[in-house]
Amino acid sequence: MGKKVLIVILILLFGVTLFSFFFFLNKDDEKSIDELLLDKGYSDNEVALILSKVSENDYSDVLELGYDKSLINILSSAEYNENNFSNYIEYYMKNKDSNINDIITIVNSGYDLSNYPASSLLASLVKEKYYINDNVARYLDYGNSHNADVKKVIGMVNSKADLGFYSVSYDSNLNYNNLVLVNKFFHLKEDYIPSDLVSLGGQYNRGANSRMRKEAADALMKMVDAAKLDNIILYNASAFRTYDYQENLYNKYIQRDGQEAADKYSARPGYSEHQTGLCSDLNVIDDSFEGTDEANWLLYNAYKYGFILRFPKGKEDITGYKYEPWHYRYVGLEAAKIIHDDDITLEEYYAYYIEKN
Ligand SMILES: [Zn+2]
Repeated sequence: MGKKVLIVILILLFGVTLFSFFFFLNKDDEKSIDELLLDKGYSDNEVALILSKVSENDYSDVLELGYDKSLINILSSAEYNENNFSNYIEYYMKNKDSNINDIITIVNSGYDLSNYPASSLLASLVKEKYYINDNVARYLDYGNSHNADVKKVIGMVNSKADLGFYSVSYDSNLNYNNLVLVNKFFHLKEDYIPSDLVSLGGQYNRGANSRMRKEAADALMKMVDAAKLDNIILYNASAFRTYDYQENLYNKYIQRDGQEAADKYSARPGYSEHQTGLCSDLNVIDDSFEGTDEANWLLYNAYKYGFILRFPKGKEDITGYKYEPWHYRYVGLEAAKIIHDDDITLEEYYAYYIEKN
């Protein structure tokens, strides 16, 4: 009897020992993620944060990183997006000294910027509406070498002004019709004359160059009529001009002021918007027009008729022209509203809405 009990006890003891051995072996092998993170040095709160913000697929990335306070900063950001987790870590590894919020913003943009160092300039660029990813290297070049706000950096590069006026030259694409771009980078051929020019007459014109393209002329007359109801008298002073006319004008200015000065206020032949038949110099073609009731009415209302102030104040570096309160360009209602509301130039509109696509 005693022997039997002893054998049973021995068997039980052996069993318990064996069970315990495997149980603990097993347990050590399959430590929970909580325990592994605690082992790395994360606090209980940090572990809870990691578990609530990182998907299971990315746990291995976290463990590989080891203890890193920046991980906690990434996860604590209001801009944190779980789907971008591995991109944050990858970009962070290359930019360990950079601001975490910049890293998050740059990754969240969705553009592949992994080859560009994280910086506050890059982070503010990608947040801009008119950011074009193909231009990023030039944005960074211009932004790092000029003390300019980020909107100006984007405007300068999108308009190509960063390359230098007249430094490269392209044929204007006439297929864009009302949105054709003619400036110090895009030019019209010597013999281009629009086929649908009409003459502005009567109260609408007081100048020798009275022709505009039909749609633009109709819009201009509508605008002049509307202004009159507000007791504002507008009239065309100079609209369509031929290549030859512009050539004579430009050469006259060069003789008077020299080329460098002439380039600031007069277009070279082929590079004048007046050859498009889509613009009009209204009322008074000199600086005295600025601040008049007529000029102010145009500033507030022209876009409602499809016209934009073509060479605005403060945008001289982008358009290449000094402020011309009298020069209005027809672009159609849709583009005019965007250009007016977003305070951009035709150059910037063209780069983003036409050239990019
Ligand atoms: Zn003009």
